[in-house]
Amino acid sequence: MPTDSQLQSALQQVIEPNLGRSLGELKMLAGVRQDGGIAHVTIDLPTPAFPGRDRIAAAVEQAIRGQFPDVSGVDVQFTASVRGKNTGGSIGLRCKNVVAVGSGKGGVGKSTVAASLAFGLKELGCKVGLMDADVYGPSIPHMTGVDREQPMATKIQKPDGSTADRIIPIEVDGLKVMSMGFFLKPDQAVIWRGPLLHRAITQFLADTEWGELDYLIIDLPPGTGDVSLTLSQLLGLAGAIVVCTPQKVALLDAVKAVSMYNQVKIPLLGIVENMTGEIFGRGGAKAKAEELGIPFLGEIPIDASVRIQADAGQIGSLFAADSPVRPQLLHICEQAALEIARQFVEAPALPSLEIL
Ligand code: ADP
Repeated sequence: MPTDSQLQSALQQVIEPNLGRSLGELKMLAGVRQDGGIAHVTIDLPTPAFPGRDRIAAAVEQAIRGQFPDVSGVDVQFTASVRGKNTGGSIGLRCKNVVAVGSGKGGVGKSTVAASLAFGLKELGCKVGLMDADVYGPSIPHMTGVDREQPMATKIQKPDGSTADRIIPIEVDGLKVMSMGFFLKPDQAVIWRGPLLHRAITQFLADTEWGELDYLIIDLPPGTGDVSLTLSQLLGLAGAIVVCTPQKVALLDAVKAVSMYNQVKIPLLGIVENMTGEIFGRGGAKAKAEELGIPFLGEIPIDASVRIQADAGQIGSLFAADSPVRPQLLHICEQAALEIARQFVEAPALPSLEIL
């Protein structure tokens, strides 16, 4: 029978299938114990949304059975501790990863994808907030069915004893939602000058009582770079996701969005193709992502249920067990979480400084 440390050293070498690195290198082995011929292994994932638990468990089991034939059973458990940049400290935001969702132009499903990411990550066990920064067309309150709600104000006590005003986000099934739409009349158009927009976005991030979040998903206005610039000045974003539709003309706009994020130094987490199907075609965004060297996070078919649920304020029900797009949406959430986690688990060790 192997000792715990023999098991441990064997498992250090097992390759994690998503990242292609060993469990030892990725520091994912949280516990290894042999008890009465059964190997008990605990793997600590960098996010509950990490994909492919089955494949990881299979790789662990295969390694143990291959090297220690007298082990009679393998029990693999998973825990998860979300890793992140935690960069909002200077504005009082306690969020591990801030993710922006953008597009080159309107109408491609950016808000749908932002809301789906938020609901999906929550479904996968993460603490999530959804901030609608699409100040020109805030559609998140409508999609989540809370457009008649008004956030309440509260006072909080700061560590130094002083008090501050905070806005309490609206909760939808445990998801914290904030939007400029809550403060506008339904048909009110707003003209934002740059400095005012900057101030509004800053206030939304800083003055909302988000609590502790693993992910804050921000639905950006389409195209323009001013909100992105504000965000990149305020926080180190985990990155941006670009949503586009598959046809060539739409891809040109997506390429512009990618170049805008590059300019404002926001890392690109990947591209999502939305409305895949007979009307717009398929695969254009994937090919473009490959060409640009950006991860492709997945595709969402064009499906009436997406529009119907969004119109009915029930976008979260796209994750119901019988929803035709649930698998595709969860896949995108997992791939996005994987790309964020990659930044932490794959970061090369800092070279030791030599003072000359
Ligand atoms: P954007 O934020 O890019 O302007 P929205 O998310 O508001 O786009 O989506 C625009 C419209 O398209 C909405 O009515 C939405 O319900 C619909 N829609 C988005 N994605 C899909 C899809 N995959 N299938 C069908 N309708 C969709």
